[in-house]
Amino acid sequence: MSDTNTGYRNPKRVRLTVGLVYFSTYFKNDDRGVVAKAREVLDDHNIELDVFPTDIKKTASNTIQTDFVPKDTPEDYAKVYKMAKDKLKQMGCTFVIPLPVVFGTYQCSGYGIAPRAPNQLTRLVMIYPEGNSDGLDLLHEIGHASELGHDLRTDDPPRNFMHTTNPRAVMYEYQVKAIAKAPFAVG
Ligand SMILES: [Zn+2]
Repeated sequence: MSDTNTGYRNPKRVRLTVGLVYFSTYFKNDDRGVVAKAREVLDDHNIELDVFPTDIKKTASNTIQTDFVPKDTPEDYAKVYKMAKDKLKQMGCTFVIPLPVVFGTYQCSGYGIAPRAPNQLTRLVMIYPEGNSDGLDLLHEIGHASELGHDLRTDDPPRNFMHTTNPRAVMYEYQVKAIAKAPFAVG
């Protein structure tokens, strides 16, 4: 946790593979900009965010019709994980180990969550229809899915993306390195 260098670029271009689906419980019609914002910040550090499908708005083809609102239990997260993976396969996703990102509602608090999924190679990410104005809710959860914890070392902006206080903007060198080694990173 020593390095607060915010200009670090990963020496080799790395690609993060993300499979995106919506639950019909998600009461907005798009991702509220969190994909573009994550892509912009990651690109500054030589990391590409590759999202399947390329059309990331909520459409009939990427939405799971369900009234399931998962509780904060491993059983419910396992169920969401399987629903997402089955849907992605049906949609033709060919990523080998994608991080499943589900836009929907859930009973746990937080604009995004990244629970461990039992017996899976990646965590599950869920993004709520409302969120922080900095747009970094998805990138923050990608951080957790890369096994990063919160970094609260400064209260002064620009805060790093693993801070819990909005707005956040920067990535530290050790955080870039952790994401470049995530199970859903290729390259
Ligand atoms: Zn967090």
